[in-house]
Amino acid sequence: MNEKSLIIIGGGVIGLCAAYYAVYEGWRVTIIERGEPAHDSCSLGNAGMIVPSHIVPLAAPGMVGLGIRMLGNPESPFAIRPRLSSELADWGLKFVRSCTEEHVTRSAPLLRDLNLTSRRLYEELDTEIGDFGLMRRGLLMLCKTAHGLEEETRFAARANALGVPAEVLTPAQTAALDPGITMDIAGAIFFPKDCHLSPQRFVALLTQRLQQGGATFLWNTEVTGWRTKPDGSLTAVQTKTGDVVGDEFVLAGGAWSSQLAQMLRLKIPMQAGKGYSLTVDAPRRTPEICSILTEARVAVTPMSSPQGSTLRFGGTMELGGLDLSINAARVRGILKSVPAYYPDFTEKDFVGLPVWSGLRPCSPDGLPYLGRAETRPNLIFAAGHAMMGLSLAPVTGKIVADLLAHRKPDLDISLLRPERWAN
Ligand SMILES: Cc1cc2nc3c(=O)[nH]c(=O)nc-3n(C[C@H](O)[C@H](O)[C@H](O)COP(=O)(O)OP(=O)(O)OC[C@H]3O[C@@H](n4cnc5c(N)ncnc54)[C@H](O)[C@@H]3O)c2cc1C
Repeated sequence: MNEKSLIIIGGGVIGLCAAYYAVYEGWRVTIIERGEPAHDSCSLGNAGMIVPSHIVPLAAPGMVGLGIRMLGNPESPFAIRPRLSSELADWGLKFVRSCTEEHVTRSAPLLRDLNLTSRRLYEELDTEIGDFGLMRRGLLMLCKTAHGLEEETRFAARANALGVPAEVLTPAQTAALDPGITMDIAGAIFFPKDCHLSPQRFVALLTQRLQQGGATFLWNTEVTGWRTKPDGSLTAVQTKTGDVVGDEFVLAGGAWSSQLAQMLRLKIPMQAGKGYSLTVDAPRRTPEICSILTEARVAVTPMSSPQGSTLRFGGTMELGGLDLSINAARVRGILKSVPAYYPDFTEKDFVGLPVWSGLRPCSPDGLPYLGRAETRPNLIFAAGHAMMGLSLAPVTGKIVADLLAHRKPDLDISLLRPERWAN
């Protein structure tokens, strides 16, 4: 039995998965979360997709041009709120430099392997922790235009070449695959390995399971600093109610991780990428398969809850600091796109629905920060998963457990080195 104590900062899906595998290996785990027990986080209102199809990081060729073209449109799915921020400028420069073919070629096999491993771990979790609505039905990239379909067809070829199955479908084939809803599209790409789940149910079950397994949750407790030894290692985190001591520490603070790292003079550049979602209860039509409305960049996921079936629409990437306020024009942009793909829906279906917002933790190269800090030997970073945090949570947790045990992870994670931007 491992008697050592582990402090995890952040009770989002990454922190919880890290805790799950650590408890399994005998660590005495304390999760410090500034929110209350049923607190909201980016991990709850997301689109719930497990995405082996996402082999391309956010930083990829074409993204800078696409972003610039979208900037003038207040309803577009991408925005940067102009502000004087040296951190944003530095992040932007690093992002632009990362948008290369070489970066994509290097990252794609790792993203594939991480996502496929996570998918397998989700299947295990499905039997270990209970029913969180895991559906192994694949994902459809719905293309409204011939141009969109052409681009996605090229992407499908790349995915197939990397061993991620992808099929190009006509509108009739798409309708046959998902007859529950009418689609007005030029075609689609089907990724059979993708899955979807209900993030709320997953987070609730995992929290419950961790409590039953002996993990301690310190809710309403904000980490405000660190205590260190002369050799650089950490002894405790500071909170308003006192220090919490530990042997090992995992930083899983989502979009806030960069600030917490700065207190240790560690540089992990991060911008919060705000997104929105709306969930329709008892929708008039429901697809069986989760979809991305490709040109509109909107994710659509059927989710089951004890109350019945719901349909979630999510999108937008707004770089505007650590701010959760709702921009009505961006939300309108999401809602306007829906009837174009699903003519059964009108904007009236969304009237009065609460809008959820969440902050994706985005690194400039679109890759997570996962590994031990070089100058802080007992600190592990698990943050910066951007649009894939839910998908990559179990594999991240498993790798954290490997690092804690000083085992070499099965996958080569050198590309995820937390201090890769140190110089
Ligand atoms: C609209 C939208 C759709 C998305 N769809 C998907 C999807 O389909 N699939 C997918 O894989 N990903 C998706 N994502 C991304 C995914 O939600 C995130 O990557 C993921 O939730 C990040 O998890 P996390 O645990 O790192 O961060 P969070 O969920 O933000 O958790 C971090 C936690 O740390 C706590 N914290 C921060 N600072 C402190 C402190 N100082 N002291 C104590 N606690 C602290 C916070 O309160 C928070 O609870 C989507 C995101 C959005 C916005």
